[in-house]
Amino acid sequence: MNNSREGNSQLALDDGAHIAVIGGGPTGTFFSIFALHMARMIGKELNITIYEPKDFTKDGPGGCNRCGGIISELLVQTLAVEGINLPDSVVQKGIHSYKLHTEQGSVSIATPALEKTIATVYRGGGPKGKVSPDIASFDNFLLEQAVREGAVRKPVRIDRIVLKNTKPVLYAKDAEIQEADLVVGACGINSTAPKIFEQMGFGYTEPEKITAAIAEIGLDEKVIADCFGSSINLFLLPDRNIKFAAMIPKGTYVTLCILGKKVTARTMKDFLNNPVTKAVLPDTMPYEIHCSCLPKMNIRAPKKPFTDRVVMCGDAGSTRLFKDGLGAAYLMGKAAAKTAVFDGVGADEFRANYYPVYKSIIYDNYFGAMLYFVIDIYRKWKYLTKAMIHVVDKEQQSSRDEKILSAMLWDMFTGNERYKNVFMKSLKIRMHADMWEGLFKGLVRGKNETG
Ligand SMILES: Cc1cc2nc3c(=O)[nH]c(=O)nc-3n(C[C@H](O)[C@H](O)[C@H](O)COP(=O)(O)OP(=O)(O)OC[C@H]3O[C@@H](n4cnc5c(N)ncnc54)[C@H](O)[C@@H]3O)c2cc1C
Repeated sequence: MNNSREGNSQLALDDGAHIAVIGGGPTGTFFSIFALHMARMIGKELNITIYEPKDFTKDGPGGCNRCGGIISELLVQTLAVEGINLPDSVVQKGIHSYKLHTEQGSVSIATPALEKTIATVYRGGGPKGKVSPDIASFDNFLLEQAVREGAVRKPVRIDRIVLKNTKPVLYAKDAEIQEADLVVGACGINSTAPKIFEQMGFGYTEPEKITAAIAEIGLDEKVIADCFGSSINLFLLPDRNIKFAAMIPKGTYVTLCILGKKVTARTMKDFLNNPVTKAVLPDTMPYEIHCSCLPKMNIRAPKKPFTDRVVMCGDAGSTRLFKDGLGAAYLMGKAAAKTAVFDGVGADEFRANYYPVYKSIIYDNYFGAMLYFVIDIYRKWKYLTKAMIHVVDKEQQSSRDEKILSAMLWDMFTGNERYKNVFMKSLKIRMHADMWEGLFKGLVRGKNETG
């Protein structure tokens, strides 16, 4: 791609401009919904085509954008304010608490603000082999919203983009598909699509990523209610390869997500055989894994996410480290739409108006990385794990309003708060005093037991 003119003049979207959105996951659909809406506010009509080869009503990995399906309470509320109300068929369960499991004990953390509820969803049509009227896909719901707003959905996989006369032209299977005034790269990182943008040569590189694991465990509804209730079960184990794992109840399934370093199918088996996990699962009943996959997770954003008439968003750009990718998809899709409609689609406009939002997520992830570094120490050293459980337990039983560590852990693993705000909470003296007390008690008990 010839970038010699990049940013040399203001590029605005005219009435009737054509936008090609590569990927109909949450980022692509949020972009489309907001761009169409905002354009109408200023009396313009846009022609938005969403290219999405997947059928999200299908069961199994083929119809699914592989994720834990946790929608933070903040995102549920933000969407409601935007007029996007998740229907009951999409929301599989409302979550009111977390159960934290460690080798040194387990503890429940109730939602810090009782009126708020986390929603769990399926991204596709549900686990493999299970097509049910009770399961409606979150991604399909958003895609239908975008189509209702006026977007056109084409089930096409784009495999090449070239610049002709300063405008990007899209190709699929060597056939020219469309010339666009703007291309939105909302293709995620689970296909070779980011390479298409890399090959355009404007400086974009695929995000750094790790492999995670997801499995859908089929269980009787009553067993799920008894073992999991409406809680997300979070595991912080001293395993080198597992940063953390979560089991998320949904109808007659529990979604297992494992994040860590070298996650493979073997990691999943080892995790399910760990005594801490076994204690949570029912011992009287065999469970079945209906569906599993090893999706990629973005852990470092590319530095150059735009050029004239091209912008990269969501997982293909910057997203929140280890949590709330859907919240980030909303944020970045909306920021790109706002810039494109109100400011323009040139590199200068994206640099001035879209890039600050993009960078704010990168900056916040530095705080996230620091917090995970500390959590890694706590989960690996048993006396610190004990102290953590002691403090959370004490806080949960206390009538004190300020439950600092409980709130920190809650916010750490939900999309409720930015990492920076969680980090700020960690500076409170009272929590450290409680931790030292817990650590001291644990050490004395340990000494007495060995003595
Ligand atoms: C293990 C795991 C668990 C997670 N759990 C959660 C969670 O509980 N909550 C949460 O908020 N986030 C979670 N995430 C993150 C979340 O899944 C992502 O951040 C989110 O899906 C990003 O949305 P996106 O639209 O950018 O990309 P995607 O959801 O990946 O969508 C990209 C779309 O682009 C399409 N596409 C790809 N290539 C092409 C092409 N060439 N042409 C046309 N279309 C194309 C794909 O088919 C896909 O539909 C998790 C991630 C992982 C890996």
